[in-house]
Amino acid sequence: IQRIVVKVGTSTLTNENGHLDIEKIRKIVLELSNLQDKGYDVILVSSGAVGAGMGLLNINEKPKTLAEKQMLSAVGQVSLMQIYQTLFKEHNKIVGQLLLTKEEFSNRKRYLNMRNVCNAFLKRKIIPIINENDAIVSNALKIKVGDNDTMSALVSGLIDADLLIILSDIDGLYNKNPRKYEDANLIHIVGDINEDIKKMAGAEGSKFGTGGMVTKIIAAEMVTKIGTSLVIASGDEPKNITRIVEKENIGTLFV
Ligand code: ADP
Repeated sequence: IQRIVVKVGTSTLTNENGHLDIEKIRKIVLELSNLQDKGYDVILVSSGAVGAGMGLLNINEKPKTLAEKQMLSAVGQVSLMQIYQTLFKEHNKIVGQLLLTKEEFSNRKRYLNMRNVCNAFLKRKIIPIINENDAIVSNALKIKVGDNDTMSALVSGLIDADLLIILSDIDGLYNKNPRKYEDANLIHIVGDINEDIKKMAGAEGSKFGTGGMVTKIIAAEMVTKIGTSLVIASGDEPKNITRIVEKENIGTLFV
């Protein structure tokens, strides 16, 4: 493994109020910094901007209008990046922000340009922190990827990642929604993403996340087709990141 994309979801980055969990972010930053010190190229795809905006403005309810949500994402994105910048600096790491849209992946010129930019980051050991440009794009404009699970899969293709790690509030894919069924079992490895696997994912997510398991399965389909492995694991224990890279059996591995 050489290049690793790590995607952290809203459910991992925020607490019950939907505000950012700084201590959690600190631990994730430590793991990513350690990986870079070991020689890996590290790319972070991070959600959490809306949550950060809610925290800053002391709002405890989900935004009611799209414009309000977009405003919160703009306010929160700055503060999210400020937190990452400060925390990574403690490990002497420099970060840069890339706010992408679907156009970066559907327009060939933009795709190639983005790939060059990403490689320029990695060449200088700068950690790209990627998010959708939510303040600018909305579903109505049809230039939105729509969720960061899919975004992280697209980014994995763009930079030819060896491994994608998606951290969530759940320790992997279960055979049915474990929040509903007590007897649900964790699936350790998936070699073929068939209809049964898709059914397991259902269609529900957490309170503040937008993806749920469905988009994670879509991401798995996308990356395994191009030879990149994906692990879905719990972000509650950020040390999982290093364990996964060191090939411990944690979460659900898609190959
Ligand atoms: P994130 O914000 O990290 O992207 P989400 O909340 O969107 O995470 O998605 C994870 C959630 O998906 C879980 O907490 C769980 O409630 C739900 N879910 C539905 N079906 C399953 C399943 N088969 N296995 C695991 N989680 C599932």
